[in-house]
Amino acid sequence: MELVIYLIHFLFLFFIFKSLIGLFQNNINTDSRDKHSEALEATKTPTIEKIFVKDFECNREIDKSKAYIIVNNEQEYYFCSWDCRNKYLLKHGQA
Ligand SMILES: [Zn+2]
Repeated sequence: MELVIYLIHFLFLFFIFKSLIGLFQNNINTDSRDKHSEALEATKTPTIEKIFVKDFECNREIDKSKAYIIVNNEQEYYFCSWDCRNKYLLKHGQA
């Protein structure tokens, strides 16, 4: 009879141990996933937010703060370089 009690205790402890390991492993997995998504979000939204605009002449994505801007008919046109700006002006006869 003692052997049966011993076996029941052993199984009981075994299941507790197994569930504890399972919890521990789940925590590790969620932790690493959270850190991974945080890192991804950090790359998505940099601390200094840049506004990108499209060069009207060569279609390049450019930082708005570094772009050459022409206002024509109340619309803003962005250019990556002075050359692109001049090309646009030549095409539209404003050079
Ligand atoms: Zn350009």
